[in-house]
Amino acid sequence: LSSRASGILSALNISLDKDIEGVYDGEWKGSGDIIESSCPATGEVLARVKTASPAEVLEALAKTREAYLHFRNVPAPRRGEVLRQIREGLASKREELGALVTLEMGKIRTEGVGEVQEFIDICDYALGLSRMMNGRVIASERPGHSILEVPNPLGVVGVLSAFNFPVAVYGWNLALSLTAGNATIWKPSPTTPLTSIAITSIIAQVLKNNNLPGAIAGLVTGGQQVGEAVVRSTDVELISFTGSERVGRIVGQTVVSRFGKSILELGGNNASIVMPDADLSLAVPGVFFGAVGTAGQRCTSTRRLFLHRQIASDFLERLQKLYGSLKPGDPLEHNTLLGPMHTREAVNLYANTVSHLRSIDADILSGGEIYSLPSPFDGGNFVRPTIAIPKSVNMKDRIWSTETFAPILNVAVFEDLEEAIGWNNAVPQGLSSSLWTRDMRNLGKWIGPSGSDAGIVNVNAGTSGAEIGASFGGNKSTGWGREAGGDSWSQYVRWSACTINFSNEAPLAQGVNFNN
Ligand code: NAD
Repeated sequence: LSSRASGILSALNISLDKDIEGVYDGEWKGSGDIIESSCPATGEVLARVKTASPAEVLEALAKTREAYLHFRNVPAPRRGEVLRQIREGLASKREELGALVTLEMGKIRTEGVGEVQEFIDICDYALGLSRMMNGRVIASERPGHSILEVPNPLGVVGVLSAFNFPVAVYGWNLALSLTAGNATIWKPSPTTPLTSIAITSIIAQVLKNNNLPGAIAGLVTGGQQVGEAVVRSTDVELISFTGSERVGRIVGQTVVSRFGKSILELGGNNASIVMPDADLSLAVPGVFFGAVGTAGQRCTSTRRLFLHRQIASDFLERLQKLYGSLKPGDPLEHNTLLGPMHTREAVNLYANTVSHLRSIDADILSGGEIYSLPSPFDGGNFVRPTIAIPKSVNMKDRIWSTETFAPILNVAVFEDLEEAIGWNNAVPQGLSSSLWTRDMRNLGKWIGPSGSDAGIVNVNAGTSGAEIGASFGGNKSTGWGREAGGDSWSQYVRWSACTINFSNEAPLAQGVNFNN
């Protein structure tokens, strides 16, 4: 193993003497298939991980339920205190965990660390929430009656996560689920097992210090079959799934068929619209980060850019200059802005999409090539971020209507805001969107009933880079899920309506008379 990788792994006490156990249910184990974790920047194999066998998944599910039966009776503010300690554990290893995300997922260091910070932030949020998960008292129409709406813990929450946010997505779910009194079982992406093991180790230590069952935050690494077993289980009340529309459709249908609850956070196809009155000194770098940050591998990455005719050529000239200044490099180096794609398959997807763009006579303004870098990055997955102008502006065409999870930005020129909003809304997905303008009439239209139909509707801020305070999620084929802030927490509890009669009569509602 290169010294670059071994330093990071040893800082997190990940020993490579033997294959690593990738299952935690109070004890570490793993006797299923072996998966390899590899570094997208160099191609080197970092570790071999022993995933969950079918029997181990069932055992972990049973232990998680047992843990829930205990944990649901721990008062919420005490659960908040456990989260505070998890927060401290994460904060003490923030840089190391961020570096591991970079090493294993490939995103640049500041973004790797940012993801760990997001988990820390949501722990802070959930700590406060642990004293504020309030129910309601409702006025009853009957004398001497009260109606309460009471939140109680829900049960077991299964979290299935995608490769591109191997820390933050689990953090959003774990923090709210744990505060709500649930036990959580995590099935991370099979290509980021080390990150999930490092995070789970920190949480396990905190649970141990508090004499709590480790299965409150269980882990089952593995691929599709492990995911399917969690999704099918009637012992899991809520499945929180983050991933592609293709898999989300299967997961959603399976959960509905057994009458479970689900939160679906699926693909995005996000647009930025730039009006003629926009401040281009903000809009150009905003679109640049949105399209190129994380090498185009955020669910909120800017994939479609609609420019008003008056500023289109000026905007593109400036944007191309920024694209031209990009240099691929070691994502662990602090000045690198462009890291690798996560996998070889992602590079192929990029290459196929660029060929398709060429076949439909799109203008390729920047990029379009795969980089070949010198050793040790010759085995890495580096591609040149691409700007393309397809001839057609029909949003039903495949090039516009599907999410390509790669740094490819498609551009179209519009005449008026209504046209651009129409394009924004004409695709199946509805995650993020952004308008660049200084005219409040545009702003009002954009965030109103005839505006963007996405879950995230920004103004003078790019499509990516959300904070945890607001609820996060998208509409339409993005799955309608909401996570993190806002009132997302209310999905992780079971609500009861309790009518309490403290009078000497027992009247029926709506004046119904049942006496003879
Ligand atoms: P993916 O759908 O391939 O995998 C997601 C997870 O599902 C993985 O853990 C995978 O092992 C598991 N899985 C695969 N098949 C399964 C099955 N049949 N049953 C149960 N689980 C199964 O997604 P990915 O390639 O890891 O991630 C990229 C996608 O995730 C993109 O579409 C991106 O937009 C989306 N994403 C969405 C959000 C959001 O918040 N909306 C956030 C991050 C990523």
